[in-house]
Amino acid sequence: MIEKHQEEFREKVRAFALEQVEPAAARLDREQKFLEEHLKPMADMGLMSMLIPEEYGGKPVDTICYSIAVEEISRVCGATGITVAAHNSLGTFPIIKFGTKEQHEKYLPRATRELVAFGLTEADAGSDAGGTRTLAIKKDDHWLVNGSKCWITSATPAFATVATAKTTDDPKDKRITSFILEKAWKGYSCGKKENKIGLRASDTAFLHFDDLKVPFENQLGKVGDGFKQALITLDGGRISIGAMAVGLGQGALDCALKYAGERKQFGKPIAAFQMVQHKLSDMATELEAARLMVYEASRMKDARLPFSRHSAMCKLFASEAGRRATEGALDILGSVGILDNKYPVERLWRDVKLCEIGEGTSEIQRLVIARDLLKSIGM
Ligand SMILES: Cc1cc2nc3c(=O)[nH]c(=O)nc-3n(C[C@H](O)[C@H](O)[C@H](O)COP(=O)(O)OP(=O)(O)OC[C@H]3O[C@@H](n4cnc5c(N)ncnc54)[C@H](O)[C@@H]3O)c2cc1C
Repeated sequence: MIEKHQEEFREKVRAFALEQVEPAAARLDREQKFLEEHLKPMADMGLMSMLIPEEYGGKPVDTICYSIAVEEISRVCGATGITVAAHNSLGTFPIIKFGTKEQHEKYLPRATRELVAFGLTEADAGSDAGGTRTLAIKKDDHWLVNGSKCWITSATPAFATVATAKTTDDPKDKRITSFILEKAWKGYSCGKKENKIGLRASDTAFLHFDDLKVPFENQLGKVGDGFKQALITLDGGRISIGAMAVGLGQGALDCALKYAGERKQFGKPIAAFQMVQHKLSDMATELEAARLMVYEASRMKDARLPFSRHSAMCKLFASEAGRRATEGALDILGSVGILDNKYPVERLWRDVKLCEIGEGTSEIQRLVIARDLLKSIGM
């Protein structure tokens, strides 16, 4: 299934992750410090522009390569994994897909080196993302935007955010529209970084828009298309969350396997005990299944086949498999597993929980899958 160029790409990203990202992962997690230091090396590697066309300075790769990159980075650091995934899949993708030539020229070259965020979620619009309350009202030569977004990945470091808003305060009018909003504009501000149990070196914060004047040319696509655009964006994003979960689970498995070979009890390595072997087997098997689901959804996306159901399935299965793998690894490490950052497993276990929440919870993935299944029986 994986082609030679994709394996070669994996080797390149793995080497980068081990040399540049892993050495800082525990420290950044402990200090809850945003991973600023990784941005330049990642931009130089092309990891910030994996979907951006070459004409705008991007280093585009196919979706399997993109998933491999998120997987390999997450294998050593979930915070870096989510930062890369959110920037490529959620921040830059909608500009590429729905933007005008002028918007491409203005934003994409900068996005090859600086982060773009995606603002869909609000305090009262989480799973029900259509419940957006942020309001954009037309005034003279601009939109006037007021509202707040929460849980936004890279809210603080991002130079721009693709955000959704309603364009009328009529409660019966459910239409939502997307806009590209710039951090430098007056009326755009960020809340403080959330104190999370996992992905602590990633930036997650509120964004506030207070009488933010938005030029008409920063409307993304047509009025009323924002919700549809967000769903299309999330279809791609969910593949990257699946890849992130596979990487986190694999990082935990790698550590548990090594530890099981070294730790002796009852006069032998614990890896000699069948129950430990079975746990390792189950972790490896589930992760391999999840990985194949991620690559299959990636392949379908590139082949321009309908892939919404498959992206939901791979995110659902991979995030739950990733959670089980990190839990299994914690079991194998025994007490040392829960020491703060002595082994990476506890960090990966804390990090993987997000995969069952962000870009739609597991319950929402089950709804998406069921809806698609039921269509086939006319419901
Ligand atoms: C670290 C992190 C990064 C994030 N990054 C971003 C980002 O960059 N941009 C962005 O826009 N958002 C982001 N989010 C927000 C994330 O996508 C939402 O938190 C998520 O969609 C869930 O929304 P909620 O937290 O409001 O939960 P709720 O919607 O309140 O759900 C609470 C519970 O109710 C269940 N539930 C809700 N509705 C149903 C239903 N119909 N049927 C069954 N069960 C249901 C849910 O599954 C869940 O178990 C991020 C979140 C986190 C934690």
